[in-house]
Amino acid sequence: MKISGVSVGKTDATRTAAEQTILMAFLSDGLTHREIDLIIGQDPKRSKGWISFGVLTGGFNLKGTDRGALFLFGRNEAKRVVRNMILKRNRKVLDRATGSRNKFKILLPYKDTFVLARSPLALQRMLSGEARNAIQRFFESRKRATKICQMQGCREAKGLDTVHLLRTRPILFIKAARKFGVKAGKIYRFDIHAVMELFLKTHMGLHHVAFLCKKHHKLLDDQRNAGGEAYRALVRTLVTGFYAHTSR
Ligand SMILES: [Zn+2]
Repeated sequence: MKISGVSVGKTDATRTAAEQTILMAFLSDGLTHREIDLIIGQDPKRSKGWISFGVLTGGFNLKGTDRGALFLFGRNEAKRVVRNMILKRNRKVLDRATGSRNKFKILLPYKDTFVLARSPLALQRMLSGEARNAIQRFFESRKRATKICQMQGCREAKGLDTVHLLRTRPILFIKAARKFGVKAGKIYRFDIHAVMELFLKTHMGLHHVAFLCKKHHKLLDDQRNAGGEAYRALVRTLVTGFYAHTSR
């Protein structure tokens, strides 16, 4: 997908479409300025993220800390907030949406839940099924928006998997658990709501998951196990090709 006229804004309609893409990428997908310039068809090496930077700071007074502010919202909810921002031409709508308590529906099952375990690893082993389900629920709408396997040239649309790329699900979970385990003697007490919130948020950006058909899921797993530069190159191809066939 390429948006012409991002920098010049030829008409109101193209400007609005470009703004919506940039705001969704920054607030809902949690992409950096450089990543956004990449998906709108600019060379990030040359633009250094300035195109999206101008829209976000100049147009809507957004700061770096706002990146991913709508990441844990449902896709439609995030779209509604972004559309209202464009309509009102300010960030008040965003502040209102992110200021309310219990704003993330995906985290409601974990409210007021604490678990005792000997270590972050022990917690991960116990909650690995839950973490898997949470990831599946969380990425469901994004997967549907992607429609077909992300591997370049593949048109498979059925039975797509959400596949971790650089770090595996258990590693990301343990990283989050470490932050919210309070040690009392030999036992940790984990705040599950906080752990799950951070765990899901560590998936922000372009490089964490891809939506792949069964065949390419297996290919990726095999390549990951082989490791090395070939695997990293494959991941790069996947993430840059992603937005080429995403309709948003
Ligand atoms: Zn495929």
